[in-house]
Amino acid sequence: MSSVRTTCPYCGVGCGVLATADGVIAGDPEHPANFGRLCSKGAALGETLGSEGRLLQPHIAGRPASWEAALDTIADRFARTIAAHGPDAVALYVSGQFLTEDYYVANKLMKGFVGSANIDTNSRLCMASSVAGHQRAFGADVVPGVYEDWDEADLVILVGSNAAWCHPVLFQRLIAARAQRGTRVIVIDPRRTATCEGADLHLALRPGSDVALFAGLVVHLADAGTVATTWVEQHTSGFAAALATARQTAGTVGAVAAITGLPEADIAAFYDDFARTERVMTVYSQGVNQSSSGTDKVNAIINCHLTTGRIGRPGMGPFSVTGQPNAMGGREVGGLANQLAAHMPFDDPAAPDRVRRFWRAPRLATRPGLKAIDLFDAVLDGRVKALWIMATNPAASMPDAPRVRAALEACPFVALSDCSAWSDTARYADVMLPAAAWGEKDGTVTNSERRISRQRAFRPAMGEARPDWWALSEVARRLGWEAAFPYRCVAEILREHAALSTFENDGSRLFDIGALAGLSDEAYERMAPVQWPLPRGQSGGGRLFGDGRFGTADQRARFVATAWQPPSSAPDPSYPLVLNTGRVRDQWHTMTRTGTVPRLMTHADGPVLCLHPEDAARFEIDAGDLVAVESRFGETIMPARIAPEQRSGEVFAPIHWNDWFTSSGPIARIVGGAVDPISGQPELKATPVRLRAIRMTWRGLLLRRRAGPVDGDFYWARVPLDGGVAFELGGWAALPEGAALEAWATALLGAPAEAERLDYADPARGLFRWASIREGRLDGCLFLSSAGGLPERATLAAFLARPLGDDERLGLLAGRPAGAPASQGPIVCSCFAVGLRTLHRAIREDGLSSVDAIGAALKAGTNCGSCIPELKQILRDADTPAVSSHD
Ligand code: SF4
Repeated sequence: MSSVRTTCPYCGVGCGVLATADGVIAGDPEHPANFGRLCSKGAALGETLGSEGRLLQPHIAGRPASWEAALDTIADRFARTIAAHGPDAVALYVSGQFLTEDYYVANKLMKGFVGSANIDTNSRLCMASSVAGHQRAFGADVVPGVYEDWDEADLVILVGSNAAWCHPVLFQRLIAARAQRGTRVIVIDPRRTATCEGADLHLALRPGSDVALFAGLVVHLADAGTVATTWVEQHTSGFAAALATARQTAGTVGAVAAITGLPEADIAAFYDDFARTERVMTVYSQGVNQSSSGTDKVNAIINCHLTTGRIGRPGMGPFSVTGQPNAMGGREVGGLANQLAAHMPFDDPAAPDRVRRFWRAPRLATRPGLKAIDLFDAVLDGRVKALWIMATNPAASMPDAPRVRAALEACPFVALSDCSAWSDTARYADVMLPAAAWGEKDGTVTNSERRISRQRAFRPAMGEARPDWWALSEVARRLGWEAAFPYRCVAEILREHAALSTFENDGSRLFDIGALAGLSDEAYERMAPVQWPLPRGQSGGGRLFGDGRFGTADQRARFVATAWQPPSSAPDPSYPLVLNTGRVRDQWHTMTRTGTVPRLMTHADGPVLCLHPEDAARFEIDAGDLVAVESRFGETIMPARIAPEQRSGEVFAPIHWNDWFTSSGPIARIVGGAVDPISGQPELKATPVRLRAIRMTWRGLLLRRRAGPVDGDFYWARVPLDGGVAFELGGWAALPEGAALEAWATALLGAPAEAERLDYADPARGLFRWASIREGRLDGCLFLSSAGGLPERATLAAFLARPLGDDERLGLLAGRPAGAPASQGPIVCSCFAVGLRTLHRAIREDGLSSVDAIGAALKAGTNCGSCIPELKQILRDADTPAVSSHD
């Protein structure tokens, strides 16, 4: 079967993928973002193409409906709301999962035709501070560097970036360069993450103190005589003011140490290394952006590169890596509430008229709209009365999720376009539209180095799913704007987007992809990845600002005077710990895609609160206990993990798990706080919380073929399996007794009446076991224990997928049927399913002592490389006696 060239739909690295209709996936060796490499998530894309969880037809008021009826309803509710309350009473909330063509049509519809800039995106939670920082410093939202810089730098500083897990292919590129040329790596992050493995220096600074650290670096560079004086004078403005402001709070290493909590020697080592290294890159991501001072953090970093003139040349410069696959494409379109279109801001006096003429727009929005946090506040207080949410799940991802849910509940009309029926937002939708998913839709995405690549369809759309640009155009047509939304295919949309980027562009707008405005449909179909800027008739691309000319009116880069301020939401005696949130290696966003893949769930199989051993002792929490985590926004209950890599006083939880996957719900239900005053990006990494240990009176393991939900006043986490699903259970109340226990178990198992039932009970030891067998196969089983000692999930899971032999039936309730495979323990290498126990055994018995030796013996780490940092950690731990106790 022939393969199609497309692009991975996950992170902003933007890896090229070769895909076949039957789901065979490989890295594209010709794509310049990855040259054939994929990480564990990308490599498992073929396993996400099933129908599980898909929304397959439109719904109105929870009932199936036709596309005609659903689109008519959206158009009618929008028209009536606009007529009664004005254009600002409606809004779109869209997504970095959108393709650029979807974004373009949505932005044009809202800003050009509805007449409101109330279109914002989940990129507000991801990249808004980088956008604002770039605009302040460069006069345009531009990442100056390219991925080759990762190969050519001598020093790479990773700030607030767990690149080993969140941008694995780029991180592996850095590791390869390190092996070849000895690149030094410094990681700046409150947590010791996988990215720190092998780094030359880890600066575990206090959350929110980054501005002081980089302000101190500017002071050090000035005092050490490493200012690029001539370059600064010729190509920048504001240096003296920025330096004076930096001196106020970060004038000495001692002052920086007091704010950041870092040892003075480590700060001095970092400053010295930066000062003496010409080829230095500073890479930053969500740890910088998702902060109430995110924009200042970005500018504090950029200031250091402007001070030394190290920008836009090989191996140097600030480098923002985007979280989402097409956050950059959305920024190019202008799909944020505070941008107009195609990198033209609202405050450019010529821009509104230019865009109005280009679009022939009857009522162009002339002022910014509501950013995400403000938008949902406006929904809650009734200013916004009709909301169309597309390709995102704000009920699970927006901070202070209870408030967002209250807003959705109160909103007179909510439409939701999604490919997943599992979205936590679905329960609030009056109309649901089934969106085409990755592999079914066509368009372009832009990655972190400004490279535009095609996402191509390689399978027919499932059910009645349709692309988002088509649904938007259909609603626009129903609102009377058919002539402006005549699109028959995505190529037409890209041509128009490219033409707008170059329309009356005298070179002052760096975002120029005019060369794509004349692409034929056939050329669009064949289009190879290209990097902007692409002025008409030129090849373009490459690094920007190397000539010292920037996107400001005077072409000078601007230093921004950044002064460290204490975090607005600091811990206090009532909420003494700081909750940080982030990603795990093998999951993506709210798991609507990755959560369907059993092997991606073997690395981390449920929500978990990571806390330092000192905090565990202080709050009397043991590993595996449940813990109630409470903030001023709400409370959730999840298992604890004792994690020495945490700073004492700080805890961490992943962002992915949500209502479909766990009783804990999304961590966003307790996260919140201040918003960056410039970018509008909310603080997601520093919520004050308190903890309360919850003693479990019983634990349980439920496996069944049926995927439906479980419910009750206990903890549960869903784990997909081949042929079924497992639920890890834990309760704090006493188990019911007698007939009530039987009835409860029967309801959990959900087996049909004709199923054969096996059971075993030892009330004195608190052990209860049930299994139901149907058509010779295990239909479900439930193990409850008051004293621990549950069977291995992986051992039993094998029997959901194949018939049971007689001897296997006998051993079923013992939890270890005859013939069951030995458990490997938690999977470390997802590509080759190599578990922790297998690794421990091989290290101990075969004497494996290096990552290469493990790769040769077990293949672990030899494909995507995402697990290499953990393999190194396991090898190091192998010297300690604790390892053997795991086996
Ligand atoms: Fe996809 Fe992984 Fe590449 Fe990111 S690094 S684009 S998730 S394959």
